[in-house]
Amino acid sequence: MAEMDLKTATSAMEALVRATSNMKSLEHELHCPVCKEIVKQPVVLPCLHSVCLLCASEVLVANGYPPPELPPEPNSPASTPNTRSPRQARPHPPSPSMPRSPGYGTYPGRRRKEGPPLVMMFPCIPCGRDVELGEKGLTDCLRNLTLERIVERYRHTVSLGSVAVMCQFCKPPQTLEATKGCADCRSNFCNECFKLYHPWGTPRAQHEHIQPTLNFRPKVLTCPEHDQEKLQFYCRSCQRLLCPLCKLRRIHTGHKILPVAQAYQALKEKITKEMNYILSNQDTVLAQITQLESSITQTEVNSVSAREQLAQSIRDLTAALAERHASLTQALEGARQKRGEALAAQVAERRGLLEHAGLMAFTSELLKETDQPCFVQASRQTHNRTALLGMLSGAWVLPCEGK
Ligand SMILES: [Zn+2]
Ligand SMILES: [Zn+2]
Ligand SMILES: [Zn+2]
Ligand SMILES: [Zn+2]
Ligand SMILES: [Zn+2]
Ligand SMILES: [Zn+2]
Repeated sequence: MAEMDLKTATSAMEALVRATSNMKSLEHELHCPVCKEIVKQPVVLPCLHSVCLLCASEVLVANGYPPPELPPEPNSPASTPNTRSPRQARPHPPSPSMPRSPGYGTYPGRRRKEGPPLVMMFPCIPCGRDVELGEKGLTDCLRNLTLERIVERYRHTVSLGSVAVMCQFCKPPQTLEATKGCADCRSNFCNECFKLYHPWGTPRAQHEHIQPTLNFRPKVLTCPEHDQEKLQFYCRSCQRLLCPLCKLRRIHTGHKILPVAQAYQALKEKITKEMNYILSNQDTVLAQITQLESSITQTEVNSVSAREQLAQSIRDLTAALAERHASLTQALEGARQKRGEALAAQVAERRGLLEHAGLMAFTSELLKETDQPCFVQASRQTHNRTALLGMLSGAWVLPCEGK
């Protein structure tokens, strides 16, 4: 039971850690390549990279193009941290990763009147090259509303920069926090004010309410050239959305043009398939990681038991050595004792020999006798004793020779 709880808690922790790291990598995907912050009002460049609208116009101004006409700032009081107004005046820092080249600079002396129409070039950082924006510059680039919605969801999930949005219709000082936003009115309301400003039976009652926001987006993408025309087609060759009027243009002759619903379906299926493929591979990789981790654990266990075996062997060997040492010491001691005794016996024998000094003196006196019968008579007994003595001394002198 307790183990189950622990397991559940552990897998919940793992899921949380994975979710956090997914969130971190998601945030990376939401960064503007120019300001390196989470994109605000992103526009899609022709190379399909998305940049903050403000960053894009700052880059263009820094490259000597006339300041583009920007849509009004997000609907926000000037004091909120979301406002970007102070940055607008700041010159754009030159990007370090893009070296200045003759084709990239201030374009001096190029005016619309003098020559061919001015084609704006945008130095796209992820592309590492200048991207042609076309004659109208940024006005031709569509907003990336999907990316904006993802950013909004992300900010909501990680509670990043969430600022209390206040109702814009309450009478001060009793202003309530807004509970609804209206994309049509582009305003935030408390419940009471929303009802008040969207009465039943009026066209306003049709307004759709959304989460309160400081950044009202257009509800749909419209053609930047033909105002109010919806982008109902997708040119696969140009990778561009087209309105019914743009679709008739000569540059799209022979291009593969789909109704947007069909392009939506096809792209959605394709991306889902790709994502599922990556996710299924992820499972394989995760399984491999699990397997490798269990190998690491097994190796640890094996090495512990090997260490124990080694220690046991060393202990056995030490004991055997000690035993052998003891027995050898004992044998050595026995041999020493035996030899010592033998040597002591020899010393005693030699001492005994010295005691026959009297016999030797007598014998040398005897040898002075010249009377032969007397000598033979007297020496017989002496001869017996010296012969015995000589035999004895020969017995112990001989083994000592050559030592
Ligand atoms: Zn930016
Ligand atoms: Zn690009
Ligand atoms: Zn209100
Ligand atoms: Zn409304
Ligand atoms: Zn159009
Ligand atoms: Zn086309």
